[in-house]
Amino acid sequence: MKEALAVHGAKPVIGQPFKPYDPIDSAALESAIEVLRTRKLSDFMGAAGEGFLGGEQNRRAEQITASIFNARNAVAVNSWTSGLIAAAGAIGLEPGDEVITTPWTMCATATSALHWDAIPVFCDIDSDTFNLDPAKVEQLVTARTRAIFAVDIFGRPCDSSSLRKIADQYGLRLIIDSAQAPLPGAHTEDGNVIADVWGYSFNYHKHLHCGEGGIALTNDDDLAWRLQLIRNHGEAVLESSDREDLRNLIGSNFRLGEVEATLITGQLSRVEELVESRAQAARRLVDGLKGLPGLELTNFPDQHAFYILPMTIRADTIGVDRDRLAAALKAEGVPGLVCGYQNLHRLGIFVNKTARGSQGFPWTQNPTAPDTYGAGACPVAEDLHDRFMGIHMCAAEFNAAETSLVVEAFHRVWDSLDSIES
Ligand SMILES: *Cc1c(COP(=O)(O)O)cnc(C)c1O
Repeated sequence: MKEALAVHGAKPVIGQPFKPYDPIDSAALESAIEVLRTRKLSDFMGAAGEGFLGGEQNRRAEQITASIFNARNAVAVNSWTSGLIAAAGAIGLEPGDEVITTPWTMCATATSALHWDAIPVFCDIDSDTFNLDPAKVEQLVTARTRAIFAVDIFGRPCDSSSLRKIADQYGLRLIIDSAQAPLPGAHTEDGNVIADVWGYSFNYHKHLHCGEGGIALTNDDDLAWRLQLIRNHGEAVLESSDREDLRNLIGSNFRLGEVEATLITGQLSRVEELVESRAQAARRLVDGLKGLPGLELTNFPDQHAFYILPMTIRADTIGVDRDRLAAALKAEGVPGLVCGYQNLHRLGIFVNKTARGSQGFPWTQNPTAPDTYGAGACPVAEDLHDRFMGIHMCAAEFNAAETSLVVEAFHRVWDSLDSIES
């Protein structure tokens, strides 16, 4: 029998908000309190010497992250946006150089290149994986391309082997933004790490979090040195350096606090368990939701961190558009709903070329760079943006009872589709 919907005033399926997802257990909390008690909340100095690489907690978080994620070097930073900016500088981008990246990502993936006056070139995505399509990446390579910035969007690893082949063939650097996919063992081939630099975000919404934070990883010692300099006022430290290539070593303050570093260390030993808890919840939802007409779920690979559970809606087959469906689901109490995702190529800073001043810099440095901005430039991403609906799996605990309620809410809405006006 059809039930009335909460959007029309009925009692919602989910009456009580779910418990928030919480990766900070009591041991992690205790160790953070202990660091607070020492009052030594940062041990960085923006100068050559003892404090250049930060305090004990930063170094410990770096050491443990490096060992869990098979990296020779880890550089803790105060956000992964900072990590991306440092990485884009470390690889030696010149003004006007081109970086091929995806429009379907958090904006920092692309803007990190702009910080060094390089030009983001947007490559359309694959409609099943939401990640960069390597075949399309290759078509965008020009004589000025210097790097590929790939993303593991929603927690699904990008096709890094194919991207590495393209990078090697054309002499490009490969940076992987794994902010949404802290998967130990991902992106290795025969035990070798595939990316030149990759890393994770520890902001409040991610699988592991310390409020704000991030970490950049690399197996290249020279890149690690550059990341450290950009993190911490490199120009003030370099006075005595005898290295030759001193490009892009303008430093910043990207330093992570000691309490934040401890909080991350306290979660790292559980990273696989924490990711698995998101993946299991997402797979329970997939089981409960598959078969609903007009709701499309792609095939998910075994290796998937399920930061977001992605779905697309076929409004034409069910007669209700995505936004009204989402409003009805939200009214039933479903948490973490995301409607649409990024189409970075349509943002004003690219379309109007106002990233640096008003005179079109850095595009003026390279007038032949592919113009990949504005409507029509990335048709797959644009079509998906209108049909996409996701569930942010770190928005709530999503235990078994809770995922059953989410499934019930979807079924209730689908049973009464004809009562929702489009
Ligand atoms: C969260 C996120 C970032 C930025 O991380 P912050 O730590 O918030 O700066 C970058 N890229 C992607 C794909 C993200 O999800």
